[in-house]
Amino acid sequence: MSAPSFTNPETIALHAGWRADPTTGSVAVPIHQTTSFQFQDTGHAARLFALAELGNIYTRIMNPTVDVLEKRVAALEGGVAGLALGSGQAATTFCVMNLCEAGDNIVSSTDLYGGTWNLFANTLKQFGVEVRFVDPADPEAFARATDARTRCWYAETLPNPKLHVFPIAEVAALGRRLGVPLIMDNTAAPVICRPLEHGAAVVMHSTTKWIGGHGTSIGGLVVDGGNFDWEAHAERFPTLNKPDPSYHGAVWTQAVKPLGPIAYIIRMRTCLLRDIGAPMAPMNAFLTIQGLETLPLRMERHCANALRVAAHLAQHPAVAKVIHPSLMEGEWKRRADAHLKGGYGSLMGIELKGGKEAGQRFIEALRMFYHVANIGDARSLAIHPATTTHSQLSEAEQAASGVTPGYVRLSIGIEHIDDIIADLDQALAAATGPGMKAAAE
Ligand code: PLP
Repeated sequence: MSAPSFTNPETIALHAGWRADPTTGSVAVPIHQTTSFQFQDTGHAARLFALAELGNIYTRIMNPTVDVLEKRVAALEGGVAGLALGSGQAATTFCVMNLCEAGDNIVSSTDLYGGTWNLFANTLKQFGVEVRFVDPADPEAFARATDARTRCWYAETLPNPKLHVFPIAEVAALGRRLGVPLIMDNTAAPVICRPLEHGAAVVMHSTTKWIGGHGTSIGGLVVDGGNFDWEAHAERFPTLNKPDPSYHGAVWTQAVKPLGPIAYIIRMRTCLLRDIGAPMAPMNAFLTIQGLETLPLRMERHCANALRVAAHLAQHPAVAKVIHPSLMEGEWKRRADAHLKGGYGSLMGIELKGGKEAGQRFIEALRMFYHVANIGDARSLAIHPATTTHSQLSEAEQAASGVTPGYVRLSIGIEHIDDIIADLDQALAAATGPGMKAAAE
């Protein structure tokens, strides 16, 4: 029996893409820890290789455990199909490489995860792909930076450290007028934002973060919205509209028509995943599915806890500034309210009155929060970006991305709120001296 389809995230996270194993009745998704799949006969093998029939061949290209995760995240985002990869970085790389050839360019928001910034500013350049960075405060800047060789626009929904929610609807609408798709990294806002509903064409996630949620598995996922007409702008998208010599001259927009509007994701699987590799391992897909099943519930608690922490720290005498969408005003608040539903996310920045030294002392004094280079774990986490995640950036690049020397990033977990606040308070007191301890109490 196939799974019925649902529209509510709580139900999708538990049921989409899977019902029970047809041979064993297993309700939990089995871990198909195998490299290869036995063909029924030579005709079957030939049909699979010719894409005349979709099915399992080899785990680098697809695997039944990974397939359930792909279907479930695609359903959660309201897309038509997904592709899981070995990391979020691989997912971003594939999103761009699927459309670009040497000599092409993309336009990206400046507000990015440090690893993505480095990929865009340095590594893609080695392959002849130029990334033009623009300030997302001005949506029109994306259009101004675009020319005939621009293949996509790229941004994060809720980028840290600034935590300025990206104007998805405005930028996506501008892009659609020019025939340019918007690709959104929705890692920090699963469930609370569905970028495809605001006009994005593709969504990617580092599933390492909130989707996995338990800090066990690195992974990435790309969701094809199926809502962008690649054929209508054939000149802009040669990888999807010109005969592909690596697949018997297939023209992807034509070849997959009977299967639905999935040219983008099919080409990513059949060409990039085949040639470059970087698949998600079945065990990691299984662990990520376990996380995904409780994601909507966890997001509620993540967001509720973060709201309480932001309000608490905003009043704290040792804290100079709290950066969280709930506390923003004007246009940034309007954008947050227009795009986020059910909470403002669980990332937060704080700047201590004592600057960099106080920030470092504060992190070292935390007892329950973990000091790690991760976000979105069920546990509360903290880090000092200037000396870690953003340390490859120049000082000017750090400033442009919102990292000041004293900024401490918090990822608020789902522990009891009293324990989260108690740990923050004791660390603030320890970091800022006995005088501040008295003031804090
Ligand atoms: N996108 C965002 C917003 C991230 O925070 C990260 C990692 O921190 C990535 C992408 C890259 O993901 P991964 O670490 O799974 O490669």
